[in-house]
Amino acid sequence: MSAFFKELMQGIAQATEAIQKLPKTMLPCPFCGADAKVSVGHPNSAGRIKTGKVYSIGCSNANCLVDPMTSYGPDLDTVIANWNKRV
Ligand SMILES: [Zn+2]
Repeated sequence: MSAFFKELMQGIAQATEAIQKLPKTMLPCPFCGADAKVSVGHPNSAGRIKTGKVYSIGCSNANCLVDPMTSYGPDLDTVIANWNKRV
């Protein structure tokens, strides 16, 4: 196995592990109690972030009466921290 392939497989394993950890690190919707949901968006060329991917977290319940959602950001950890921030 080439070093590149080995590194690639390690990267995939780490990403998979990170995704599996996500639901545990996100608090539920503060209004209806449903699970939080990550949305991946494409940056708007006219916006503040122009390349890569941007993330937002919101309520997964389509019938949520408030339907809260964070603003989009390039760093998922920061977006999770924003979602989990409660007064
Ligand atoms: Zn909700």
